[in-house]
Amino acid sequence: MTGEEDGSSAEENASKPVSQGGVPTDELEDDLSSEEAVDEENGVPWVENGEGAAEIEEEGDFAVSEGEGFDDASDGWVQQGDSRYYIIDGVAVKGSLCIDGSWYRFDVSDGRMLTEWQSFDGKTYYYDPESGALTFRNRCIDGDWYWFDLTEGYMWTGSAYIDGAWYRYDLVDGRMLHGSQWIDGAWYRYDLVDGRMLHGSQWIDGAWYRYDLVDGKMKHGWQDIDGHRYYYGSLDGKMCFGKQVIDGGNYRFHARQGYEVPYFRVYLDAGHGWNSSSSGQWDPGSLGVGGVEADLTAALVNDVAARCREKYGIEVVTHTDSSSVWYRKRQNQAVDEGCSTLVSVHFNAGGGSGYESYIHSYNSPEGSGAVQAIMHRHLGAGIGLKDRGMLRSELAVVGGYLPSTLLEICFIDNSFDMNAFREKRDRIVDELADGIYEMSLTDACIGSGF
Ligand SMILES: [Zn+2]
Repeated sequence: MTGEEDGSSAEENASKPVSQGGVPTDELEDDLSSEEAVDEENGVPWVENGEGAAEIEEEGDFAVSEGEGFDDASDGWVQQGDSRYYIIDGVAVKGSLCIDGSWYRFDVSDGRMLTEWQSFDGKTYYYDPESGALTFRNRCIDGDWYWFDLTEGYMWTGSAYIDGAWYRYDLVDGRMLHGSQWIDGAWYRYDLVDGRMLHGSQWIDGAWYRYDLVDGKMKHGWQDIDGHRYYYGSLDGKMCFGKQVIDGGNYRFHARQGYEVPYFRVYLDAGHGWNSSSSGQWDPGSLGVGGVEADLTAALVNDVAARCREKYGIEVVTHTDSSSVWYRKRQNQAVDEGCSTLVSVHFNAGGGSGYESYIHSYNSPEGSGAVQAIMHRHLGAGIGLKDRGMLRSELAVVGGYLPSTLLEICFIDNSFDMNAFREKRDRIVDELADGIYEMSLTDACIGSGF
């Protein structure tokens, strides 16, 4: 072969598209088209595969060298000891070559077929440890996943969009990354198992985080999601719950769902009534000359709630109908409905006179003392009967999460008390509404729901 022939056919080869698209190139590319291509290290002149090679459908940037001891070998694969070679025209191929649809890499010095990790031209490739075929797409190697370019087979680093999802590969060693990753000034989250970039709301190590639905960046600050407003930490990105001071303002977020709720929202519990018993039946409470306790509490709570809304614009939650729940679950219902504070209204019975109030004897939520003090004072100003004291008792409705108190308005089985109640009812409604308003301005009376 002459140098001129070699050059022209090499060019033809290089411009010919191959089935895999781009071709892994090596440092021999220039040499192949050069008239005086010489291996500097070995001093062996390179020759191109030429027409004979084209006939056996081999393609690639490779070279064969003479004088390698394969003169008698037939073209094709040859095994010598632990090494494999590919022979064309009696000489071993060097560099990259596509054989029967798979790419192989042969040592540029001695033509040995190379396997596993190989780097050349600034890129890294992986050849099957057994067959030597170049790896494309994804592959798990020593426990880590890698991605190899679909057309050229080189190992990817950085971010990659594959089959509808983003993945992240280490910038240095190409390993697929998992978990939280800091990339170009933002946090991203990748699935711990399959490595997909995650979007939307994610529960991670005991906190909720939010990732952009499109670009996957972790969100910070106020976010409107599905009709609710949330706040994610400006530094750590954690969704906020309960009471928070943000930019100097007071805010409250649902204790379980995390969306913003009014800073003050009171749960006004009408003692007894529907479902108050665990049987789900209507529970009348005490009976006396004043009538049925459940009727009195429902009517009073409805009037106080209306007064709060009309006079102060305060959010009041009541369940004076069948939406009421077992008294042991009313504290939880208040939390579920985003309330900050709970006041339970009852009438006393059993012989006695006057008003009193309770907080839980051993499970009293923080702030209950302040709630009790305010409501007790206003109840006394309204009813004007004997003050029986601010007391403690094991009453489930005032135990748990929210600053809570239970009011015994007066004795339902005492006609003196009930006459006073009927006479001063409107004043009592006013005072209880005023007490609730006072609580709305008292930080200690506003709970986080925890
Ligand atoms: Zn009662």
